[in-house]
Amino acid sequence: MSVLVYVENTAGEFKKSVFEVVSYAKAIAGLLNTDLTAISIGTVDPSNLNLLGQYGASKILNVNSDQLKSFVSHSYASVIASAAKSENSAVVILSNSFSGKGLAPRVAAKLEAAFAPGAVALPEISGNNLIVKRVAFSSKAFAFTELKAANKVLSLTPNSFELKVDQVQPEIIDFDPQLTNDLNTIIKDIVRSTDKVSLADAEIVVSGGRGLKGPENWGLIEELADALGAATACSKPISDAGWRPHEEHVGQTGISVQPNLYIAIGISGAIQHLAGVSASKTIVVINKDPEAPFFKVADYGIVGDAFEVVPQLIAAIKSYKA
Ligand code: FAD
Repeated sequence: MSVLVYVENTAGEFKKSVFEVVSYAKAIAGLLNTDLTAISIGTVDPSNLNLLGQYGASKILNVNSDQLKSFVSHSYASVIASAAKSENSAVVILSNSFSGKGLAPRVAAKLEAAFAPGAVALPEISGNNLIVKRVAFSSKAFAFTELKAANKVLSLTPNSFELKVDQVQPEIIDFDPQLTNDLNTIIKDIVRSTDKVSLADAEIVVSGGRGLKGPENWGLIEELADALGAATACSKPISDAGWRPHEEHVGQTGISVQPNLYIAIGISGAIQHLAGVSASKTIVVINKDPEAPFFKVADYGIVGDAFEVVPQLIAAIKSYKA
């Protein structure tokens, strides 16, 4: 018996959120007195796989198949479920990341498991059950969900668990899930349509709202994003008005982001917007109204006119980098 954690890679690299979910899974394995096995799908260098040992993974199942090079939710779910069965893992943990949100419920369904998405703390153990604190109602509340089935699947809200270093030398094993019948979709190639950082994967997001006045001013957002290597995002009225494409709209009815740094410029901070950004690690707000609700959830706030503050910020970042 072991706890199984899925470690997603981005072009062969692991992000901080992966080490976070491994630290979380290791802590749960500790509570259950068992070991932690990680499963990695896709091409990842062994030196990167070894990094997982620093956070407590003692065994790594490495699935390196041409057919699974690119992420396809139902195929990856089949592989993870197959690994859980072969490892006799009653608890499977994933990140509640962009891809994890589609993957985790599929894994739960395949394992006929009880499922708690969006965990924010270590679960409480009650006999054979786990009681999981998780976000609910677009992060406006917490729910305590008791997982009673023999198999349990949890997904961890990014930025909600501290990294815990636990030096282990992991055993890396090639794992063949033997799933030819389940692989009914294979992505042959992915061609990026833009060089810009994708919003779903971004560590830094620069986001603009109605305070920018019009699409002709969006260059400010893009220039700051370029200086920081960030993705760009916007509030809903901006995409509704056609200033920006809908895939950049964050919030309750848009995409949820969990970057390390979210910079909100000229956005009031309505609850529907906050629902999609409140899991960000650090939030910086630039708004000329000191009463703007966004300041209540900001880690750093700058009260000022975006058209004065942002150019100074860009100049400072550029001179720091030069
Ligand atoms: P505003 O509320 O108009 O705020 C503009 C801000 O810019 C103000 O705070 C102002 O002080 C500041 N400002 C103005 N000029 C400057 C300047 N020169 N420099 C600096 N600051 C300046 N919204 C979302 O974003 N995402 C969602 O997913 C979403 N879903 C919704 C779902 C429903 C069912 C409903 C009813 C609403 C939803 N909304 C959503 C809309 C949401 O309620 C707000 O209306 C919206 O977020 C406001 O966008 P905003 O902050 O850009 O604009």
